[in-house]
Amino acid sequence: SCTATKICIASDSTVAALYLQEVVSVLRPEYQVDSFVFHAGEEHKNLDTVRDFYRMLIEKHYSRKDLLLALGGGVVGDLCGFTAATYLRGIDFIQVPTTLLAQVDSSVGGKTGVDFEQFKNMVGAFHQPRLVYMNMQTLSTLNNELFTCGMGEILKSALIYDAAFYQWLGEHRHEVLARDHEALAHMVRECCRIKSEVVESDPTEQGIRAILNFGHTIGHAVEKLMHFTMLHGQCVGIGMAAAAWLSFQKGLLKDNEYQLILELNRYYGLPDHVEGLRTEDILQAMASDKKASDGNTKFILLDRIGHAVIETLPIASLKGAAESILKEETAH
Ligand code: NAD
Repeated sequence: SCTATKICIASDSTVAALYLQEVVSVLRPEYQVDSFVFHAGEEHKNLDTVRDFYRMLIEKHYSRKDLLLALGGGVVGDLCGFTAATYLRGIDFIQVPTTLLAQVDSSVGGKTGVDFEQFKNMVGAFHQPRLVYMNMQTLSTLNNELFTCGMGEILKSALIYDAAFYQWLGEHRHEVLARDHEALAHMVRECCRIKSEVVESDPTEQGIRAILNFGHTIGHAVEKLMHFTMLHGQCVGIGMAAAAWLSFQKGLLKDNEYQLILELNRYYGLPDHVEGLRTEDILQAMASDKKASDGNTKFILLDRIGHAVIETLPIASLKGAAESILKEETAH
């Protein structure tokens, strides 16, 4: 928006220390630039932080023609996006995602929101950013764990939608893990294309958008049962292994396709099993998920690499899939 006179950069403490000055220095001098920095961490993605943000915007007389800029990972993007969606009934915002996950997932699709008490993303709004700017250089400061988490969502996008991209991820594994900028840029671009094609064909989540939940049904259950000690992307990796197992058992995937999925997950650092959980608890956790009803859940399967199908399945029928991730893969 070129009529804006003020820009407020929202960031967390970690990202602000790394990149805030650089972003400020490239903004045109005619803007009044402010910053709102909060402590890094999911536990600060809540309404208290939003309240502090509103207060600052009011004190500094931000009007509807001014602009917010989210500089950071998914936490900053969700919180700043939600503030932009609700302040003065909605003002423009720009996303500058700095984690791999935020670049390929949370900055695409227009979902914004915060956590409420123990409920994740319970309060939110759909609000599209005016612009998403990504710089692959920011990924060089990301630790391996966070990088792997982003890879979970990337492998997922390829598996549900694009066999050629999945093949590319196999062939360019060395460049990607070495964080070669060109490889990263290609990968992020492909992934954003996939997510936006899926989202655009189903903006309000009536049908096909559900395929983006591949790996998430069992993944969420594991995440909850492990009390969030494992990162989201790792749990999605485990969930994808379970969903691939079931797809293979149902005769939808061939054995070599199933093995390839496990192999590439492993290569990119994603776990394919989890220790210390019980099958019954996984089934129970799925039954209490907000997406389940009457003992059934929408489950995403693959009928080949690059193509997903949505099925409504009784949770009890997911016993084998849950068991498949409780021990190390022994099929080799
Ligand atoms: P995050 O924003 O908390 O970032 C993870 C950590 O990395 C933080 O400590 C952060 O300070 C640090 N960090 C960020 N960029 C960095 C960089 N370039 N170098 C070094 N450190 C950096 O979390 P995330 O993994 O980016 O995103 C997870 C959040 O995204 C969750 O809250 C989730 O609900 C949300 N999400 C939203 C959507 C959506 O559609 N809106 C989709 C997926 C996930």
